Formats: sequence, structure tokens, C-alpha cells
Amino acid sequence: MAKDTTTIFQQGTLGLLVPGLYDGTITAGELLQHGDAGIGTLTGLNGEVIILDGHAYQAREDGVVREIAADETLPFASVHFEAPDATKALTPMDQPTFEQQTVHDYQLSNVFAAIRIDGTFKHIHTRVAPKQTKPYHTLVEATATQPEFTGDDVQGTIIGYYAPHLFQGATVGGFHLHFLSADHQLGGHLLGFDIDQATLKVQRFADFHVHLPIDNADYLQQKFDNNEIDSAINKAER
Ligand SMILES: [Zn+2]
Repeated sequence: MAKDTTTIFQQGTLGLLVPGLYDGTITAGELLQHGDAGIGTLTGLNGEVIILDGHAYQAREDGVVREIAADETLPFASVHFEAPDATKALTPMDQPTFEQQTVHDYQLSNVFAAIRIDGTFKHIHTRVAPKQTKPYHTLVEATATQPEFTGDDVQGTIIGYYAPHLFQGATVGGFHLHFLSADHQLGGHLLGFDIDQATLKVQRFADFHVHLPIDNADYLQQKFDNNEIDSAINKAER
């Protein structure tokens, strides 16, 4: 299959995680056919997924990072094939400065973009969603008590996306970033970071491909509430 570098492929919606539809609907092997970089979570909201250079890793709630096998499944993930259209050296800056500057410099407000930052970070703060068992709790309940991890002077990679706020619910409107340290000792969904020296790669996308799990009975029967989804994403994903 030819690598399409012009489209973000997303399995499911962030919205389907909100009421607790955590059963995997795509295998990691199939997901990697659609991209070599990205983010997601495993069946049961089991940890945070970081996909870099064609390898998918799980940051587990006990802090361990492991590579995901091809037959493991995910309820939600976004991937793309890397072909950055801009690269920039970053000097020390905090997260709010980085986010404001990046949205401004690359005019991201109304576009999809993949964000990759490789380098050293003065501070990294992540969380890892704890594995759920059936009957599943909602996303807000599941993430109310979640392990958080921090590191200082960490070398590693931030990977994730910027999406227009219009798409909040389908995905996270704004930035949604995960982290994996170079030594694989620290990973997860990013709650905060402080850049020391790093290289930013930005890849803008006109196309966002959402693949819905139309063979999943729970998904078909779920009644979604937009307001609940919006507030849950703001609580659980920022
Ligand atoms: Zn996340």
C-alpha cells in the first residue's frame, strides 16, 4: 500500500471513550498500515499509546513502557505517515509559549497538524489512564484517579496533534500530545512540559479520515450527548 502522507487516519472518536466504549476495534498491526506515528489508547483504556517510527508503545499505569504486539486492539487512535513540511530549532520555552507560538507561526487555528518535538526537556509531566474492566466506567470516572509521572532534564519525543476546535468531540480540539523518553523509562499523555533544546516538526493536513466502528454493537446503540462529551474532554484530556 502506498504511504499517504496527506491524511490523518483516526480509528473511532474521542467522543466514544466518554461514556466508556473502551473495547478495541482495530488491531495495532492494521493501525500501523495507516501511519508510522501517532497516539491512542488500548482496549480497556489500558494506558497511553505512543507511535514513533513505525513502532507502537504502551505507557502502562505502573510506569512501564512496552512495545505493543500486532494483535492487540485499540478503541481510539490517530496516526499519520511522517513527512513534515516545516522543521525548526526550539530554544528554552514553557508549554503555553510553545503552543501560542506554534499556532501563530504555522496558522494552525483551522487546520489539522501533526506535532513532533525531539530533544531535551527541563520538565515533563504525564498521566497514564488506568486499565478498566467491564462494566466500564465513564472517561471522567476512569481518569479521576490516574497515576501521574514527572521527569526533569529528560531526553525524548513529544508526538501528537493539533485539531481545529470545531472538531472537539470527534477528537480533542486544540493540542493532544503524548510523550516517550529516549530511554523508554517515562511516557504517557502530556499534562505539562518545559522545553530546553529541541527540534520541532510540523505537518499540516487538509484531510482527516475518521474510521467508525460500525460493527461494534455497543457503539451502534450508544446515545451520545455533545455537551457531556465537550465537558468530559476538557476534564480528562487536557
Ligand atoms: Zn492522550
